[in-house]
Amino acid sequence: MNSKYRIAIDGPSGAGKSTIAKAVAGKLGIDYIDTGAMYRAIGYKAGRENVEPEDKERLSEMLADTEIDFSDGNIILDGENVNSLIRTPEVSMLASKYSAVREVREKLVELQRNMGMRKSVIMDGRDIGTNVLKDAEYKIFLTASAEERADRRFRELQEKGREQSYDSVLEDIKQRDHNDMTRKLNPLRKAEDAIELDTTGMDIEQVIEAVMDIVYKK
Ligand code: C5P
Repeated sequence: MNSKYRIAIDGPSGAGKSTIAKAVAGKLGIDYIDTGAMYRAIGYKAGRENVEPEDKERLSEMLADTEIDFSDGNIILDGENVNSLIRTPEVSMLASKYSAVREVREKLVELQRNMGMRKSVIMDGRDIGTNVLKDAEYKIFLTASAEERADRRFRELQEKGREQSYDSVLEDIKQRDHNDMTRKLNPLRKAEDAIELDTTGMDIEQVIEAVMDIVYKK
């Protein structure tokens, strides 16, 4: 294996990217960069400050005045750990909405590229293999049926004691798939040189093993 390498994991919402990426990062002893958390942090801040995506002037000002970083696996927004605040259904929708805005993507993609330059990383998102780290040594496209993804998300929310019906979770997943796949800028799609892994019917351990196999066999 190269001394420095990048693993790009893309796929739709709820495919298990972050769970898998975190576990694989731990096994390989490399950094995990959750780019979805970065879009969530921007969506969260814009929502809190009532900055509409159409209001380019205020949005640009807000972006210029925003710092995003990771510390011990937590996402830090302007010095505050916002990890638990950004994992709500509302912030999911805000992230999806603001991630379609050019100014937001330009800022975050630049940050992500810088993070991917310094050391070996595993980065997950929607456009990592196609755009952020086009020359990543390993590219994986993780999918699962919309129903299975909704089922996983539903259980996760239930465990956290959050009330949301299965039907509305499925609706949200389909809505975000649609937003992410049809936006003009860096839409969600499989990179030509990515390996597709359909995880429908697989458990977490099996998916981790499949990813480790891809990394070791190449
Ligand atoms: O992965 P996660 O669900 O946390 O991402 C939240 C939202 O951020 C996604 O629905 C997508 O709209 C956006 N996103 C993106 N590009 C990425 C990562 C996430 O547009 N690389």
